[in-house]
Amino acid sequence: MNHAIQFQHGKIIVPDQPVIPFIEGDGIGKDITEPSQRVINAAVTAAYGNTKKLIWKEVLAGKKAFELTGNYMPDETLKAFQDYLVGIKGPLETPVGEGIRSLNVALRQTLDLYVCLRPIRWFKGVPSPVRYPELVDMHIFRENTEDIYAGIEFMTGTEKASQFLDFLINEMEVNVIRFPESSSFGVKPVSKEGSERLIRAAIQYAVQRELPSVTIVHKGNIMKFTEGAFKNWGYDLAETEFGEQTFTWRQYQKTEKLLGKTEAKAELAKAKSSGKVIVKDVITDAFLQESLLHPFDHSVIATLNLNGDYISDQLAAMVGGIGISPGANINYNSGYAIFEATHGTAPNIAGTGKANPGSLILSGAMLLEYLGWDKAAEHVYDAMEHTFSKRKVTSDLFSMMEGAILLSTSEFANEIIRNIH
Ligand code: NAD
Repeated sequence: MNHAIQFQHGKIIVPDQPVIPFIEGDGIGKDITEPSQRVINAAVTAAYGNTKKLIWKEVLAGKKAFELTGNYMPDETLKAFQDYLVGIKGPLETPVGEGIRSLNVALRQTLDLYVCLRPIRWFKGVPSPVRYPELVDMHIFRENTEDIYAGIEFMTGTEKASQFLDFLINEMEVNVIRFPESSSFGVKPVSKEGSERLIRAAIQYAVQRELPSVTIVHKGNIMKFTEGAFKNWGYDLAETEFGEQTFTWRQYQKTEKLLGKTEAKAELAKAKSSGKVIVKDVITDAFLQESLLHPFDHSVIATLNLNGDYISDQLAAMVGGIGISPGANINYNSGYAIFEATHGTAPNIAGTGKANPGSLILSGAMLLEYLGWDKAAEHVYDAMEHTFSKRKVTSDLFSMMEGAILLSTSEFANEIIRNIH
């Protein structure tokens, strides 16, 4: 029997018993991985009986890999993710030292996982700093391979920084660097291809899930040729590739200019009532405010790397924090996907039973959805909500909830499994 997930004609083909490579992770990775797998297994069994099953295959990375093989990211690990297409990981500590890249970045770059997907939803009962958390339901598509995060930086005082400065001043006629001699430099590449593939994935996701809108979040008012271009390429793509399924804010503005406000409003209303995805844009700083005040106005968010970093953490905080925020890194053109707990290794609580396994469990539910096993994913969501509504939580949420019952990492997972049954 073939247990590897395949990618053919733009679609993943999933056997009934796919092998899922997993990295346990450092720090609390050890505490949360096994309980999370038990929850996911229980959900699959509840949904499909004995007809479907995940075959977990441990692959090494991080400290455990270093101890056993002398290498933080053995080639076999990368190969396993390539061979089996879809995997999951716990958090990895970034090793300190010259020349060692972040292991997470290495995985993303090797597999060209250009989308960082973070769904943000609220579970009934979870403490939230916002007034109407039940209205928060957003899906962040953060570009993962470009922008200021691409790692093109030159440290002040080095030969490269001085060559770069010389090039900027003498060849590019740049005269706005305030303190040239003591400046470090970073370069922000944003490409048409990179922007289009990210925004295409966001629109496709909205269309497939019948979500109402895609908001392009950018800082194009200041960075016109990178962030501004990202917005324009996004609108162009929506109008050319998804003309039948979308209505853009740019089209609204054109109609308003040509035919007036009443006509533009009528077109927008017609697009909404016919189920079209509304594609709009918001400047990043305004978005951070708007997402707090009117979260219900935004559904899918398509944004660049750095903006996406800030937005992910703010939105996660609105629905209960990083302990229950899942994520995935995906290449929709090759099918490669790695689902992951979005928090770090939390060394301060590792081995104490205090870690919340929610982030990894929900990442597992996202993995099930990616496989098309939605029924199993629903079991996870329902059981987790039921657990929270009974105020049974791990220590990160315990202190914020009145009358809460404190559970350890493992007990919390057991409670979810009970609720699945
Ligand atoms: P962190 O996310 O590990 O911890 C921040 C705070 O949140 C800590 O107080 C921690 O106890 C708490 N916390 C995190 N996850 C929790 C959970 N599941 N349940 C309860 N509390 C939780 O961030 P950090 O301290 O900045 O980073 C520690 C290490 O993790 C660093 O080496 C960093 O490079 C790495 N890191 C890895 C990833 C990843 O693998 N995706 C992400 C972020 C940080």
